[in-house]
Amino acid sequence: MSTQTNATTSKSKRTPRKTTAQKTTKKKGISVEKAVIEAQRKFFQEGNTKSYEFRIDRLRKLEEVIKDNEEAIIEALHKDFRKSPFETYATEIGFVLGEIGHARSNLASWMSAKKVGGSWLNFPSGSYIYSEPYGVCLVMGAWNYPLQLTLGPLVGAIAAGNCAIVKPSELAVNISSLMARMINENFDEAHVKVIEGGKEVATNLLAENLDYIFFTGSVRVGKIVMQAAAQHLTPVTLELGGKSPAIIDKTADIELAAKRIAWGKYLNGGQTCVAPDYVLVHQSVKPRFVRLFKEYIKEMYGENPQQSPDYPRIINDDHYKRLKSYLEQGRVLTGGDTDDAERYIAPTALDEVDWNDPVMQEEIFGPILPIIEYENINEAVEYIHRHPKPLALYMFSESNDNQSFMTENISFGGGCINDTVAHLVNTNMPFGGVGDSGIGSYHGRSSFQTFSHQKSVMKKATWLDVPLRYAPYKGKMKWLKMAFRWT
Ligand code: NAD
Repeated sequence: MSTQTNATTSKSKRTPRKTTAQKTTKKKGISVEKAVIEAQRKFFQEGNTKSYEFRIDRLRKLEEVIKDNEEAIIEALHKDFRKSPFETYATEIGFVLGEIGHARSNLASWMSAKKVGGSWLNFPSGSYIYSEPYGVCLVMGAWNYPLQLTLGPLVGAIAAGNCAIVKPSELAVNISSLMARMINENFDEAHVKVIEGGKEVATNLLAENLDYIFFTGSVRVGKIVMQAAAQHLTPVTLELGGKSPAIIDKTADIELAAKRIAWGKYLNGGQTCVAPDYVLVHQSVKPRFVRLFKEYIKEMYGENPQQSPDYPRIINDDHYKRLKSYLEQGRVLTGGDTDDAERYIAPTALDEVDWNDPVMQEEIFGPILPIIEYENINEAVEYIHRHPKPLALYMFSESNDNQSFMTENISFGGGCINDTVAHLVNTNMPFGGVGDSGIGSYHGRSSFQTFSHQKSVMKKATWLDVPLRYAPYKGKMKWLKMAFRWT
């Protein structure tokens, strides 16, 4: 692991000056959060963020800052929960760079007003949809993919022409302070500012009148965010969690199912919102699945996963204790080893779990996978229907009928057929939850749309003024009905 000073700090040798917000805070006796929002609102209202050139320039800067800090990001995430350099690049750095590249290539087309069809009732006119930035946006992130979940949405906010305050999770301490340095030393705080902190800072920010809130985190805090947003009627995107099932039917390619579920489950140490939370497997193929699943864990992480440089640790003691308690709520099929000193939990699979135990009631969010057998596919569907709508669903099957049945009859945020987690890595597909797993979506163009108000404007011609709509209405009804028929 590199020990070099991070690129941001080595590049900026300036003596730290008081920011405008800090000065305003002192002068007016208001909080930093309020002062930043004031500064950003002014900057936005002056029209500074709206031009194509400004947006492209800031996206380029973001890209440059991330590239310059690649080593520092890898180091910070390794310190926070021993995330491997490969996973950090794949799921954080590469991911955000991909989003920036996609936004830069498509921004001109996304920004242009879209002409849509007109209606006879408004003849003669032209109809247009303008994508208008909201203004001052708050992006609040979770700790498990701390760079992706904060700078990813930020790409959408900047591309759409907004100002933004980014509040990373306080649990991934090293990456939070690195992101604060990366952004705050390279962006005007009146445009983008990272404000670090926990619940208290989040509460202060949420109390303000913001123009958009983009939140990633738990269902519990999602409800707090939505309640706070309601006070100002601020629109929200809520990217939440839940229990995402993987279903394996008897026609499935069991070898690939075992390999791809093991990958998606133990990536990031199972601390992934779209990780398969539990498996529902047809009883006839369960023994083979379990055998292959154990083999793939060994192939990926070796005889002793604690020694693997690719296997992360649990983020903090609270999550570690919670996960450890799940180990007693079933029969351990594989794994089950723990080490308190390192917050290590081996890649684990559980059999004989009870639907009423916390392991099947709560989102697991760690490297423990309950494997449950079913006899009839309808049983599996019933299990899922009895619980809140999942963020993701994975179906392993070679049967087109079963594949279609799952996609058409179960509501879930998004997912894959014959894979896990991979649907996230396509900028052409919106990513988000439904029901308890979230509201709204982002990634690629969806991020731009999420951070834009769709403003409909009709340009009416002045050379003709059809008298139909004006009173007196006598004798006009048949024309009105005809006009509606043509519309
Ligand atoms: P969390 O809800 O505890 O924290 C998220 C953010 O909310 C953090 O920035 C935190 O500081 C803030 N926060 C915490 N308590 C708060 C309070 N009382 N008031 C105001 N703000 C508060 O979530 P987490 O533990 O960081 O992340 C895990 C959860 O996030 C899981 O449920 C996971 O499924 C979900 N998640 C969802 C996605 C997605 O894209 N849908 C991605 C990652 C994680």
